[in-house]
Amino acid sequence: MPGQQSDAVSENLIIITVSSVRPAGQGGALKKTTARVLPAMGEASEFFWTSGADGKLRFLRCDACSYLIHPPTSYCPRCRGREGTPAEVSGRGTLYSFTVNHQPWDSAGDVYVIGLVEIDDQPDIRLMTNIVGMDPAQLRIGMPVEVVFEDHDPIYLPLFRPVG
Ligand SMILES: [Zn+2]
Repeated sequence: MPGQQSDAVSENLIIITVSSVRPAGQGGALKKTTARVLPAMGEASEFFWTSGADGKLRFLRCDACSYLIHPPTSYCPRCRGREGTPAEVSGRGTLYSFTVNHQPWDSAGDVYVIGLVEIDDQPDIRLMTNIVGMDPAQLRIGMPVEVVFEDHDPIYLPLFRPVG
């Protein structure tokens, strides 16, 4: 269905940081603001984007074989089961890869980290996200990370930070 396709696309575009510089007022200093392009929630993905309201990461779990299905779809790619239920996971993962953005896309000059996080509960799930809470120069592939949610009520973006 077209709606499901657009959900899948939005999963891949989730964590895009957009910063902008706007004048604070006449003759005033420049005020830096940061905004994100938020995901479009579809019927299948709404639970995923709102899950962090209670601080828990959830994936769709197949009712028949317990496989975690991500992005959420209407069938299980492992057993072809048609029923799934959002299930809480540990929120822990491993930094599979990352890149540090230094490009000042809009002159704001933000440096941020785009990371690929392998989910401990099921390592074939890798989330593209931002890595926060550490100097990018200290990040290493293979580091343990944990989820931390960025509040854009009702959307809670799952970002990750190094553990410890
Ligand atoms: Zn299944």
